[in-house]
Amino acid sequence: MCFRPPELNKMMTQCPACKGFNPPKLTKCKKCGADLPKPEAEKK
Ligand SMILES: [Zn+2]
Repeated sequence: MCFRPPELNKMMTQCPACKGFNPPKLTKCKKCGADLPKPEAEKK
């Protein structure tokens, strides 16, 4: 089995405003308060 480390941007949501990383469960950046895009916005 091969183990790949998860990509940072799959584990964390990047703020479009300040480029800070936030836990995906947050809807607003903890740093600057900007709205974060939902990681599950991608449709399957
Ligand atoms: Zn921010």
